[in-house]
Amino acid sequence: MNVSNPGKLVIISGPSGAGKSTVVRRLLEVCSLPLKLSVSATTRSPRPGEIDGQDYHFLTRDEFLRRQANGDFLESKEVFAAGDYYGTLRSETASGLAEGKWVVLEIDVQGAQTVVQQQPQAITIFLHPGSMSELERRLRDRGTDSDSAIERRLEVARGEMALMDRYRYEVVNDTVERAVREICDILQAHRSDKD
Ligand code: 5GP
Repeated sequence: MNVSNPGKLVIISGPSGAGKSTVVRRLLEVCSLPLKLSVSATTRSPRPGEIDGQDYHFLTRDEFLRRQANGDFLESKEVFAAGDYYGTLRSETASGLAEGKWVVLEIDVQGAQTVVQQQPQAITIFLHPGSMSELERRLRDRGTDSDSAIERRLEVARGEMALMDRYRYEVVNDTVERAVREICDILQAHRSDKD
């Protein structure tokens, strides 16, 4: 552990389709803090262009369940009715924090709750597109999900939006560059935190 410069946990949640991945990727490029992305594990199939080990660790269901039983996850859950698993590997956060990095978790609201119970000092940010109708438009424009998958995501999103006030910060992703700047400013304000 780098005691003089301890790492921090940053949690970014928000409804699926809120543009989290794009914002997080850009944040890592432009924010001048030692940020490191925690790459989650999932059993869902890669979308076109997604790279194993970079966007997610894509695991088979058997491998995921084996690692879950082994206690390898800081948090994990079955996210959608379709039955895909997602989780944060302890190894992803531990290695970054030990190096004094600010480890960014892009996870859903339940996962965020689980992590905050263990790490209450985590900086939590809820990123959302402003309204449910804007979210639906973005999910349809993305063109990666079937109508029924979009309906499921919207249903989950309604529940997630209701939990926004559990986060320390709320950021509207109206434009990527503005949202990234706001998040970076929020994080910079935590530089002198003692934890
Ligand atoms: P997607 O399939 O669109 O990449 O992600 C679906 C949802 O799973 C998103 O809300 C995303 O934030 C969430 N998610 C991604 N990784 C994790 C994780 O490691 N843990 C939890 N709890 N949720 C995750």
